[in-house]
Amino acid sequence: MHKKVEEIKERALAACAKADTLQDLTHARVRFLGKKGELTALLRSMGQLPAEERPKFGRLVNEVRDRLEERWQQKETELFEAEEQRRLLEERIDITLPGRQVARGSFHPLTQVINQAKEIFMGMGYQVVEGPEIEEDYYNFEALNIPPDHPARDMQDTFFITEELLLRSQTSPVQIHVMEKQQPPIRIIAPGKVYRADSADVTHSPMFHQIEGLVVDEGITFADLKGTLQLFAERMFGPETKTRFRPSYFPFTEPSAEVDVSCIMCRGKGCRVCQDTGWLEVLGSGLVDPRVLKKVGYDPEKVSGFAFGMGVERIAMLKYGIHDIRLLFENDIRFLSQFSN
Ligand SMILES: [Zn+2]
Repeated sequence: MHKKVEEIKERALAACAKADTLQDLTHARVRFLGKKGELTALLRSMGQLPAEERPKFGRLVNEVRDRLEERWQQKETELFEAEEQRRLLEERIDITLPGRQVARGSFHPLTQVINQAKEIFMGMGYQVVEGPEIEEDYYNFEALNIPPDHPARDMQDTFFITEELLLRSQTSPVQIHVMEKQQPPIRIIAPGKVYRADSADVTHSPMFHQIEGLVVDEGITFADLKGTLQLFAERMFGPETKTRFRPSYFPFTEPSAEVDVSCIMCRGKGCRVCQDTGWLEVLGSGLVDPRVLKKVGYDPEKVSGFAFGMGVERIAMLKYGIHDIRLLFENDIRFLSQFSN
């Protein structure tokens, strides 16, 4: 049996030396040293020996096992290092290759205008708020001084969902939500999507964006409105921009005014874009009608306010010289990438 041990040892060492991958080495290990391996089997058959020889034989087998284990470990380290070396050589990186260009995205022109307006008004202490796009008739019309039979409802073709629910046709209902929750002083802008049953053409889209503004405090006058919008126009369209206020009508403001800016194309000299008037209409505005203030529980004797609203598409088209509103919604990358900054 001692001879058998020697013989297994020799074969095991030979197998170990022959293995040239980690996988081969593991296989050989299982064959000789595993639970069902040859050496283990030999140890189990020790019972056949006379009792006095068993300890000596046990020691011998264990010595051989230790010797083999040691050899295996050495070989494993060698193979592991060799494989790592090979991988490093294969994966060598050529640092002289030119880099791959990663295309950078950019903001949509409408987002750029909204972000710029936010920045301008936040600089004047305004908060940016949002409201729901599915709105109740009350918020979209009635609370804004537009009762069911009011002719102003004809000014807007509204998408009704039920008799009481609709897709908001303006961002003005956000004013009411804010005033219901907060007491003056209020200074907010509310950018967002609005919907009207218009078919799409060069200047119309059934979905577009507005930015609503509202200020309510003690002693707010028309002069505050003019100063605010003049500053906005200068920051949005350039420092030489002039503004002009024309009397107008909106149900929820009194008095009301349309606001024009001097044409940014011809600087007021007259061109095709401004139809030779030198002015471009960009905003609707006015002092908040006392009836609207009363409806949300404010005292119109104590506080007053102004409101304004602008179309984001209109401003973007003027600023970037875009002639067809539909281009803004076709998402053609070739078109949009012209406005990346
Ligand atoms: Zn012009």
